[in-house]
Amino acid sequence: TQDDTYIQDQKTINDPNKTKPTQTGKAKAAFVVLIRNGDLHSFRSSMRQLEDRFNHKYNYPYVFLNDEPFNEEFIKLTSAMTKGKTEYGLIPREHWSVPMDIDMNIVRKNMEKMREEQVLYGDSLPYRHMCRFESGFFYRHELLDKYDYYWRVEPGVQFYCDLDYDPFVFMKKYDIRYSFTISLYEYPKTIPTLWDSVREFGKLHPQYIEKDNLMDFISSDNGATYNLCHFWSNFEIADLNLWRSEAYTKFFSFLDSKGGFFYERWGDAPVHSIAAALFLKKHQIHFFNDIGYRHEPFSHCPADEKIQLKCHCNPHDSFDFHGYSCTGKFLDLKAKWATIASNVTRN
Ligand code: GDP
Ligand code: MN
Repeated sequence: TQDDTYIQDQKTINDPNKTKPTQTGKAKAAFVVLIRNGDLHSFRSSMRQLEDRFNHKYNYPYVFLNDEPFNEEFIKLTSAMTKGKTEYGLIPREHWSVPMDIDMNIVRKNMEKMREEQVLYGDSLPYRHMCRFESGFFYRHELLDKYDYYWRVEPGVQFYCDLDYDPFVFMKKYDIRYSFTISLYEYPKTIPTLWDSVREFGKLHPQYIEKDNLMDFISSDNGATYNLCHFWSNFEIADLNLWRSEAYTKFFSFLDSKGGFFYERWGDAPVHSIAAALFLKKHQIHFFNDIGYRHEPFSHCPADEKIQLKCHCNPHDSFDFHGYSCTGKFLDLKAKWATIASNVTRN
């Protein structure tokens, strides 16, 4: 009868899993989302934009990670939003706890001092776990074992432009290992001894430092001091094997042994950026100009008219060439190297 058909149709329409097709994107890649249950709704708006602007054509999977179990509502509402596979992982306790040799009395004292100095997240212990996890552990989660590339996504971010090609395949083709959309200067009070530790590591293990590296992006005096430039890691599309490498594994455990993730407030952004700048070749770091993106309070909005036709952001709001951005420096250095490279080829 017509009623039966109607009831059956309603069921089909409302079953989010009914029409999941297989993935069409060709890379071994996934979105990685570190998130709390409470950020469900601000993530849904980001995910909606990511799907509409890009992933509905590729159906790449999502890996959600949390230090607490995801609840049913979170799983139901996020999996309903994509035709790609969605997986939900619990972070092992040892990846989200204070190591035995850290003196919590010193940590508490330093957090109190940073609170008085109004350092952003300076008095937060969960934020420190988050930065340490994103620096040294997310890529070791077993749900990521099967992937080569990841795209990091956070709740509340926006995607402004249609992306009509596959950035993972693009990265593989051009041997790109790390990419960004926004770069800026770090707060010095969060990393007083980070650069000393980096230099000490470089002296102990010179073999890991790439000769054709991007040191000039992070240091304006040939490595003596850190100029605070870093890629803003709330957006990253990168090669997981960069972090799985021997160089980075040793680098992270060296930094971790210094205790700066807790005694200071080392961010995953400077840690990733310094590693990428020192362990990779210049051409292996890429600025994704055509990915319009916002994480409060900054945006990257492409100015090229051809790209802008596919976007919904105001290029005048783009952070790229503001005084506090490092992207101008990155592009200048790239242009300089391109000139040097073409002169070398010509001569
Ligand atoms: P900000 O971008 O530096 O202001 O820091 P966020 O608050 O956005 O945190 C960075 C990322 O870590 C986001 O993806 C958050 O969802 C996630 N995050 C931060 N703290 C926690 C936490 O305590 N638990 C979980 N599961 N995720 C967290
Ligand atoms: Mn954030």
